[in-house]
Amino acid sequence: MSLKREKQTYMLFMLSQKTHDIILMKMDIEKVFQMKGGIGENSYSKNSSLQKRAADKVKHIITAAMEQMYVEKRPNSIGIADLGCSTGPNTLSNIKQLVHTVLLHPHPDPEPEFRVFLNDLPTNDFNTLFQSLPDFYTQLNKHRIYISAYPGSFYGRLFPDHCLHFIYSSNCLHWLSKVPAGIYDEQGFSINKKSIYISERSTQEVSLAYLKQFQHDFSLFLKSRSQELVCGGRMVLILLGRTGSHHADRGNSVFWEIMYRSLSTMVDEGEIDEEKLESYEVHFYAPSKEELEDEVRKEGSFKLDVLEMFENENENDIDADMSYGTAVAKTVRSIQESMLANHFGDSILDKLFQHYATLLDQELAAANDHINSITTVLVLTKL
Ligand code: SAH
Repeated sequence: MSLKREKQTYMLFMLSQKTHDIILMKMDIEKVFQMKGGIGENSYSKNSSLQKRAADKVKHIITAAMEQMYVEKRPNSIGIADLGCSTGPNTLSNIKQLVHTVLLHPHPDPEPEFRVFLNDLPTNDFNTLFQSLPDFYTQLNKHRIYISAYPGSFYGRLFPDHCLHFIYSSNCLHWLSKVPAGIYDEQGFSINKKSIYISERSTQEVSLAYLKQFQHDFSLFLKSRSQELVCGGRMVLILLGRTGSHHADRGNSVFWEIMYRSLSTMVDEGEIDEEKLESYEVHFYAPSKEELEDEVRKEGSFKLDVLEMFENENENDIDADMSYGTAVAKTVRSIQESMLANHFGDSILDKLFQHYATLLDQELAAANDHINSITTVLVLTKL
């Protein structure tokens, strides 16, 4: 074989390998994506206080939505679902709060029973969650609470018709069902050069591809839930968002920019292949207020009661003996490790997150300000 021919064959092989990689990545999110399980140092259980803080900030909104539903419907058997419950302590502490909210109200004797449905992707470490159930039942031993798990994607039906009165989902709906198909050209190459999410360098085409995927996913989510909730049932959704129409904000996309720079540093160090980095994209989207409102209106099954945005003062939660960058790197690692390891191999992880911590601390020092992510809370009533 001539040298030229050999080179062409090699390039074709690389191309088909890369397309193959990308197709695999697109297909496998449901099978690969998982928060770090167990209760070890890097686990989601031990690194989810920032997420808890976001939910705690809107406790009054969650409580009010449950109260309103209970006062209007007075069910004897209350169906509650937590979508994207993960493995940590956050889900059960939230369920406890919802049960207490109902029981603080005048109620008949015997008191209502609670059917609690915990959902996450099939890859979730449900076992760690189940292991905390005996203590949970002991704390609430006087009450009738029946907990079950429903593994599966919330972008589609999960539960039987009209079995739920209250749906809760926190820190989940910014995860898309997949990397938007429009991000890849016909040959399977990413059109989002030198970025892994929408950045200052991204074209309009890239932002549009992400927006379209979000619209498709969120409307499927609403449609699916509308069949599972009773009329008058409530849904509280807490997710990351952005305040303006511009995508490359300091609230959320900056964290992906730091991730891109960390990966890029590893390319410079010869630890990661540049092609591999250029085919990596995240299945994330931070919608604006208007984008959320549009989808609720278009889908038509829900009345939007509340839509509020707030900043998380992330820094207040950080251990005094740890830099801000290190603490955020630990949280991001517990969330992103599965996807990164699947694409780049797990040998890069320790070094990658050291770079991430350093670069984030440098970014903060240079800008001399905080980076507070933006969270949105929505309350919806099923019509
Ligand atoms: N609600 C918890 C966990 C949030 S982490 C808390 O607030 O701390 C986000 C969770 O969403 C992860 O466990 C992830 O597996 C889950 N998730 C992401 N996409 C999902 C999908 N399509 N269907 C179900 N769960 C999903």
